[in-house]
Amino acid sequence: MTRSPLIALTASCEGDMDLSVCSGCTACSLRCAKGVPATREEWQSICDAIAAMPLKEHAHLQSVLAQNKRVDLGDEVSVEMCRYWDTANEGCAVYSARPLICRLLGHVEWLPCPIEKVTRIVPTEKALALMKAYAKEERHTFEEWESLTNEA
Ligand code: SF4
Ligand code: SF4
Repeated sequence: MTRSPLIALTASCEGDMDLSVCSGCTACSLRCAKGVPATREEWQSICDAIAAMPLKEHAHLQSVLAQNKRVDLGDEVSVEMCRYWDTANEGCAVYSARPLICRLLGHVEWLPCPIEKVTRIVPTEKALALMKAYAKEERHTFEEWESLTNEA
């Protein structure tokens, strides 16, 4: 299948990232709060990834979706996390298909890594071109896409 220019640009920006430093790190996980926007293509990617999951991974996803997503931050403050955030094991259940915003976190100038572990970010000009293209897309939260398309 031909990739859209946006997906190709996203992949190109990912080529500039050093994702190895993020392996096993959850220090920016609070950014996985509910309400992340996704384009139709990103939503479809998540649905396709879920449809292609082996049984065990699919069962894990179902348990993640069933979790209480409210995380207590103390001092009577709490946050509702993304439906795909595994609150028990800390991780994204659809990591390989996560939307652009999730991919850029910590790797662009305006969304820096909170623990300053990421030293190689996407060149700002390139990242801004990506955001400009992205801004033209119709975007909704996962919950909105679900009710619009009745999937995942
Ligand atoms: S962006 Fe920073 S805090 Fe977030 S996972 Fe990567 S290294 Fe950890
Ligand atoms: S899709 Fe994954 S990476 Fe993105 S906000 Fe949800 S849990 Fe976090």
